[in-house]
Amino acid sequence: MFKRPVLKFSSGAKLIAFAVVAVMLPTTVLSVIQYRSLVDLESKTKVAVQDSMRRTLQRVAREVEMDFRGLVKKSFDIKMEDLKNLDRIENHCAEIRKSYPQVGKMFVVSEPPSCPAKEFAIFCSVEGIIRIEQAQFNKNPMVRQMKEIYSSAWMMQHSETMKPDIFFWQFTCKSCSINESPHSHHYVFYPRFEKGNKGYKEPAGFAGMSLDDDYIRSEFFARIMPEMLGNPDIRIDGSDSVLAIFDEYKRELYASQPWLREPEVVIGFGPVFPRWRLAIGYKDKTIESLARDNFQKSLMITLFVLSLLIVGIILTLRATAREMRLAQAKSTFVSNVSHELKTPLALIRLFAETLELGRVKSDEKAHEYYRIINNESRRLTQLINNILDFSKIEANRKEYNMVSSDVAEVIEDVIRSYEYQITNAGFELDTDIEAGLPPALIDRDALSQAVLNLLNNAVKYSEDIKKIAVRVGARDHHIAIEVADSGIGIPRSEQKKIFEKFYRVSAGLVHDTKGSGLGLALVKHIVEAHRGQILVESAPGKGSRFTILLPASETDRAADGVGFDRGGYTVAEGANN
Ligand code: ADP
Repeated sequence: MFKRPVLKFSSGAKLIAFAVVAVMLPTTVLSVIQYRSLVDLESKTKVAVQDSMRRTLQRVAREVEMDFRGLVKKSFDIKMEDLKNLDRIENHCAEIRKSYPQVGKMFVVSEPPSCPAKEFAIFCSVEGIIRIEQAQFNKNPMVRQMKEIYSSAWMMQHSETMKPDIFFWQFTCKSCSINESPHSHHYVFYPRFEKGNKGYKEPAGFAGMSLDDDYIRSEFFARIMPEMLGNPDIRIDGSDSVLAIFDEYKRELYASQPWLREPEVVIGFGPVFPRWRLAIGYKDKTIESLARDNFQKSLMITLFVLSLLIVGIILTLRATAREMRLAQAKSTFVSNVSHELKTPLALIRLFAETLELGRVKSDEKAHEYYRIINNESRRLTQLINNILDFSKIEANRKEYNMVSSDVAEVIEDVIRSYEYQITNAGFELDTDIEAGLPPALIDRDALSQAVLNLLNNAVKYSEDIKKIAVRVGARDHHIAIEVADSGIGIPRSEQKKIFEKFYRVSAGLVHDTKGSGLGLALVKHIVEAHRGQILVESAPGKGSRFTILLPASETDRAADGVGFDRGGYTVAEGANN
């Protein structure tokens, strides 16, 4: 019968697949979206900045217009009857020109529609005041010239629907340029209307003023612009922004600060100076560079956040993998420990029963059975001790009884009690214990248990070559306890993990050798509580060497009775205190 192949994935692979689908995929999509929106933002930034610059320029032009409108209204706030009093008009004219140096000539040209006899014109300039009466009105060159200028300006400005109350006119007269330097004419007109014979409002002449081109070019903008740019409504962004005015020959008339770059936005300076240009830009950058800078900054921030996210994800995955490994290890631990407990118990029971029933023939056999019972009960004790100690450590209740002792003596005791078992299992035990070692501050029982665990492992994880070497000696202010075997060895990648609780190498012989996965975790705890270090050197197939390094000469500390806390264990004060 056809069987569907079943794909089995390890929990690590599942975790990675989950991370890719649930976390990495959305993160990648999010990053792409973010990148695209940044690119989009970059182009929108350019448009938005240009738009805001254009609006600033329009506001400046409008402000200048409002200024001149106000000036004209103020200057021609005169009653018709007053126009007969030439002295008063001259005074008024002088006052206006004094307060507003941009004003050149002021004029009134009156042409009442229903009464040609009342035509007159007044011109008031720095040279004085002239009134031209009806008799000279149409012949006077000044009046004719002014009427010509006005009518061309009016033709350009007005339409049937739009009759401006005030309007501006600017033209360049190349033939009248002085010394080849540019010269422009600027006028502001104030049209006048009166009711004619037919009862409609009809044109009745005009008033107005010409502006002083030299003053406007050289001083006017320098005077009014700083004040205008200080206005919060206009506000040009940042100290890098420059606002400038150019004439019809592209000569710079004004710049808010010296600049190096081309203007970003240029508009006509109408309605007051329609032939001139208002420009805005940056002193030493462009909108492109600005947008690029912003883009790069945002990109950097995004990348930074993304890398934080990735680091976070990796850490979480690692922690999760660890937890999963731990959970897995715990469940194996239970089955391993039950087996570890059952085997010696079964043996003890079997041999005890055999002895009890008197079925043993020889003393020798009986002796062997006693030894087996003894050995198995020791193994049992060792296992139970490990479990109990471990649970104490987990609950933070493990206490160490630190006493200044001779380490060599402790190790010799351990070997003596375990030697028979080792050699009986077919091992060659080589010991080398240096004499005259300095004393160290140790918990004798805990250290014995650590060394016993190492010896136990050396026996458990050896195959054909049954050799164990134990060395104790001084090494750089430390006492080194080495337990070496020629067993199965430990792959490099596993050498750190074997000290984790419940961890067991899942390859080769270890599968068949039962264990709790607690032995080395306990060794590490004990050694660290002694402020020591546990080292491992190992190569698969060649053997392993575990070295416990204990700090020597801790006698002072013992004498002071100073307890120290390390790695979560409470270390009891020395017994001799
Ligand atoms: P247990 O021996 O009960 O499994 P340990 O904490 O003592 O637990 O050891 C953890 C793992 O380290 C063991 O499962 C084994 O894979 C490996 N190990 C420990 N000591 C040795 C050794 N001397 N040689 C080879 N492998 C070892």
